[in-house]
Amino acid sequence: MPYTVAIAEIKQESNTSAPPTTLKDFEDFHLFFDDEIKIGLGSSNSEIAGFLDILEKQDVNVIPIIATFAVSGGPVDQETFEYLTRYLTEKLSKIAKLDGILIALHGALVSENFQDGDSEILRQVRTVVGNEVPICVTMDLHANITKSKVALATTISGFHTCPHVDLMETGVRAAQLLMGILKNETVPLMEFVKLPLVIPATNHIDFQPGTYKDVLDSAFSKEIYPVLDLSVFTVQPWLDIEEVGCSVVVIADNSKHDAIKTAKLIAENIWSKRELLTSTKLMEPHEAIELALKQEEGPIILSDVADGTMAGSPGDSPVVLKALLEIKPGKTAFVSICDPEFVQKAAKLGIGNFITSEVGGTWGKLFYEAIEINGQIISVEDAEFTFGQKSYLGMKMKMGMTALVKIENVYLVVTSNPTTTTDPAYYASVGLDVLNAQIVVVKTHAGFRDGYRDVAKDFYLLDTPGMSSDDIAHLPYKNIERPKYPWDRSMVWGI
Ligand SMILES: [Zn+2]
Repeated sequence: MPYTVAIAEIKQESNTSAPPTTLKDFEDFHLFFDDEIKIGLGSSNSEIAGFLDILEKQDVNVIPIIATFAVSGGPVDQETFEYLTRYLTEKLSKIAKLDGILIALHGALVSENFQDGDSEILRQVRTVVGNEVPICVTMDLHANITKSKVALATTISGFHTCPHVDLMETGVRAAQLLMGILKNETVPLMEFVKLPLVIPATNHIDFQPGTYKDVLDSAFSKEIYPVLDLSVFTVQPWLDIEEVGCSVVVIADNSKHDAIKTAKLIAENIWSKRELLTSTKLMEPHEAIELALKQEEGPIILSDVADGTMAGSPGDSPVVLKALLEIKPGKTAFVSICDPEFVQKAAKLGIGNFITSEVGGTWGKLFYEAIEINGQIISVEDAEFTFGQKSYLGMKMKMGMTALVKIENVYLVVTSNPTTTTDPAYYASVGLDVLNAQIVVVKTHAGFRDGYRDVAKDFYLLDTPGMSSDDIAHLPYKNIERPKYPWDRSMVWGI
């Protein structure tokens, strides 16, 4: 008698300062239903592909229901949240004999009505399937783990890498945990420790020598890791919600004692290194551009982290573009911005003509303003690209109508959709080869270290204003529970 296992994905990383995320944002990355899921994601680097890899080798009847992922943005509008969740729960309610569920969630999804949107998804699923059906969940390393998530899920397995290149492996881990339960081979028991700590995102790189890597190396050392599963969640830092913080989740075989002992050990080590984990090194944009131009070989990647589109920012900051135009670089530079109105103006004027217009600053008015530019329109077209980097390998992203404008040596890509810029395929989609540029501007904290790892001569992180600034202690948060580090540096905490 085969097991029946339902699989699903509903993922979005929220930034509570950013404009709302709508159904279109899910459609622009991916939104697959039922049989479309295997075709759309079966051969990608995704949790779904990891689920399928394990399940299809076993005596399992797999029921794919929904798989969707939006680029990071503001809280998901309630209509969209309800539509996606209802599709999942209605399909689940029609399965006669359901043995288990595998769900890929982000873990930092906020909806209009729910600060912990992922828990609400799990709560609605539990309402339909009851408490006995195991639900094994995967989450992003930036998940905000809460008591409610841990209570509702049977297991939670998080990515171990940042940039996230282990999506499929994480899916495999979750599927193995589920199969262990179904075959009565293991009894996974989960515990977690939440720290009153938020770590700036540029410090989340798992392979970069330093304090964060030391913490991970110690957490995943042979002495600590005989447990069934272990995850260190650094949390998405741009969540102005009450229950925010990084956490450690441990799943041990039939031993709550082992799980909590291990989680405490790792959490105490993280807390002891909080000062180093929260100190960052960023460069002023003009200084970074001048330094990049002095280098013999390019491309040098300059990251406008505070306008990071994989961190929920809209990608509409003209701050680095302004600095480039002021410097008038003698070498080629690529830079991007999201501004649908500008693209429409460029489309009306037509290819080859010059455009004088304001650009940027549509959503981020609290942090920066539009600037006026004058350049030649090289192309205007509906653009998309397929990820070639390991994270999201094989997935497609729609950029919407996109204009390419040349201002002397500066090539400006203007998209209609907020788009991830972590992959050289972004610039290639409008005919730009990053190998021909001395400076390539990206808007991301970590992802470019995966996408550009084989081509970049160096990476500079910029100190810019925006919704995903690394200077988290100075962001205008009102709702986070205090005390919390680094907001309250003299606070005391113990488990
Ligand atoms: Zn993440």
